[in-house]
Amino acid sequence: MTVDPTTLPSHYDLAGKRVFVAGHRGMVGSAIVRRLEQDGVEAITAGRDRLDLRDSASTLAFLKDTKPDVVVVAAAKVGGILANDTYPADFLYENLMIEANLIHGSFESGAEKLLFLGSSCIYPKVSPQPIPEDALLTGPLEPTNEWYAIAKIAGIKLCQAYRKQHGADFISAMPSNLYGPNDYFDPEKSHVIPALLRRFHEAEQRGDAEVVCWGTGTPRREFLYVDDLADACVFLLRNYSGYDHINVGTGSDITIAELAETVKRVTGFSGDIRWDRTKPDGTMLKRMDTARLADLGWTASTSFEDGLTRAYRWYLDNPVRGGDVPAAAQQ
Ligand code: GDP
Repeated sequence: MTVDPTTLPSHYDLAGKRVFVAGHRGMVGSAIVRRLEQDGVEAITAGRDRLDLRDSASTLAFLKDTKPDVVVVAAAKVGGILANDTYPADFLYENLMIEANLIHGSFESGAEKLLFLGSSCIYPKVSPQPIPEDALLTGPLEPTNEWYAIAKIAGIKLCQAYRKQHGADFISAMPSNLYGPNDYFDPEKSHVIPALLRRFHEAEQRGDAEVVCWGTGTPRREFLYVDDLADACVFLLRNYSGYDHINVGTGSDITIAELAETVKRVTGFSGDIRWDRTKPDGTMLKRMDTARLADLGWTASTSFEDGLTRAYRWYLDNPVRGGDVPAAAQQ
């Protein structure tokens, strides 16, 4: 049966629903659980010890057993450029399995709604700026993370296929660069915000004269506080039921040099910033077009300085996470 995707209801009442958040220990999943709890919505979670999402039989059995009304796919194998490049088979295979098991299992167990989360790396290496949703599949991907990206594109397509063939209310959201509590704080291997928060903090503690940042400081990036993403996810669950994936971002970007100055202020470091131009800048521009989400009625509310201060406080309160590698958390 082919169903007209436009006939599905666009308002979904979450009151009294049971929501399974896959990946609840990660930065995104934990923020979504917090956000649902604010609205008194029950979140079902399952630790890795209890459920291996790569395993089809146990994932299907878990979903048939718990029968969630809603499933949020915030579980993924994530990592930076180096990890993606070193373990391409793990990144492609594990992410395909996790999302196929969750999406097919949600359909089989009768879930009413599913939200699949990806990332801005799904878009071609050369895309119009800001990047609109329809840039998807218009050109070659950035080769260093194409394994992760291909899996995430397959996830979007799975949601569309189940909607088209079965009328399933499965939607997808693609966030821009995220930061916040439960991030991965490693000075060398993590993304720029946790790396710099940690490096400036440690330099401040030691009383260093300077902190070294990578590249030229001129690339621009859009950063989204993870609690804002969680708020957008709950908004989309309630108000969006469409075939196309939706970009989630702030709609504005800053230079890496501006970011470094803000990190310096937030951490109280009083020395100088030096730019190591032997390190790569990466892509110069990476901002998503968030007009569709704005048209639906949602915009981000956390200022960058506030979000950064909260992320820094979380890091100070949770130093043990500084060296951990998140195994199954959303990027
Ligand atoms: P990207 O958005 O995929 O390029 O991911 P990153 O968060 O790793 O890098 C964003 C930008 O921050 C790049 O231009 C980096 O060169 C710059 N940058 C500056 N200092 C650092 C650092 O210490 N770590 C990282 N990861 N990036 C840094």
